[in-house]
Amino acid sequence: MKAIVVRETGGPEVLVLEDIPDTIPGEGQILVRIHAAGVNPVDVYIRSASQGRTPALPYVPGLDGAGVVEAVGPGVAGWSAGDRVYLSGTAAAPLNGTYAERALCTPAHVHPLPARLSFSQGAAVNVAYATAYRSIVDRAGARPGETILVHGGSGGVGIASIQLARALGLRVFATAGTERGRALVIEQGAHRVFDHRAPDYLAVILAATGGRGVDVIIEMLANVNLDKDLGLLARSGRVVVVGNRGRVEIDARQTMGRDAAILGMTLMNATPEDRVRIHAALDAGLANGNLSPVVGREFALAEAAAAHVAVMEPGAYGKIVLRP
Ligand code: NAP
Repeated sequence: MKAIVVRETGGPEVLVLEDIPDTIPGEGQILVRIHAAGVNPVDVYIRSASQGRTPALPYVPGLDGAGVVEAVGPGVAGWSAGDRVYLSGTAAAPLNGTYAERALCTPAHVHPLPARLSFSQGAAVNVAYATAYRSIVDRAGARPGETILVHGGSGGVGIASIQLARALGLRVFATAGTERGRALVIEQGAHRVFDHRAPDYLAVILAATGGRGVDVIIEMLANVNLDKDLGLLARSGRVVVVGNRGRVEIDARQTMGRDAAILGMTLMNATPEDRVRIHAALDAGLANGNLSPVVGREFALAEAAAAHVAVMEPGAYGKIVLRP
């Protein structure tokens, strides 16, 4: 089968399309024919061995995907050939990731893909929506009626956060850096949208709360925004740091009078039990239509390098996926 193989860490050019041996599902494994693979910023950090991540080489990248069950191994119940599925990772096996024509999974990685969603939308679920859920529900403990600011609303995690926050009954503010991104954010359910490149946008957000501040901020670029976020919080406000690409100086005094909290969040810290609970919630939202992933760009599998360049560029518009 065709797969993208990384044999050394480095720039996008280390993503090479190769022929690798076909796999067959072993005990407790499910073989999925991949129709779309999701591209995440973390795939870039792993490929380039940045942000403290050093992969074992060689490897096939990709945590997100969607497709059709091709075969099930002995001892697998509840899944059969032909089922439409989205994936949350793949089995620990050599050269096994979603940037490929097939991937081996365990039942914990396989979730039903409703008929109303395309394979590309299915490939846009796992990292983005699980991150949104863990940030908004598990870390921030957001409650209906609270105001949330999705600081970076136009990308994969941002759109997921907007849809989820709306479904939970929050008042949703979001930002985007382009006209197209701001239109998308409103289309996906944000009550108000702001331009995070405009010089005065923080004052505009604060004014939109009547000066009270927001209860929760989901932060996609903390190294740029964390200090500013603290000044936007209402009393007992919480900032969840989801994305961060450098160091930042903050005025910690800003947290004191507000009883405010800065909360870190890494999806990798979710336990197997957390993942079962999170995907039960996401699968309900995907089935009833509250959650509907947005795919902004599709690339052929052979163009994985171009997709890795695109995912780091400004002007996000939902998710980027690869089509094997
Ligand atoms: P993405 O699709 O590339 O989206 C990036 C978002 O950041 C876009 O909405 C972009 O808006 C926005 N942005 C750019 N400049 C900004 C600024 N100055 N202030 C606020 N937002 C700004 O990436 P993603 O998949 O949504 O991931 C977002 C971040 O979260 C990445 O850094 C990723 O590594 C991280 N992440 C972390 C976890 C975790 O477990 N902690 C999980 C998933 C993702 P415009 O393009 O419209 O300017």
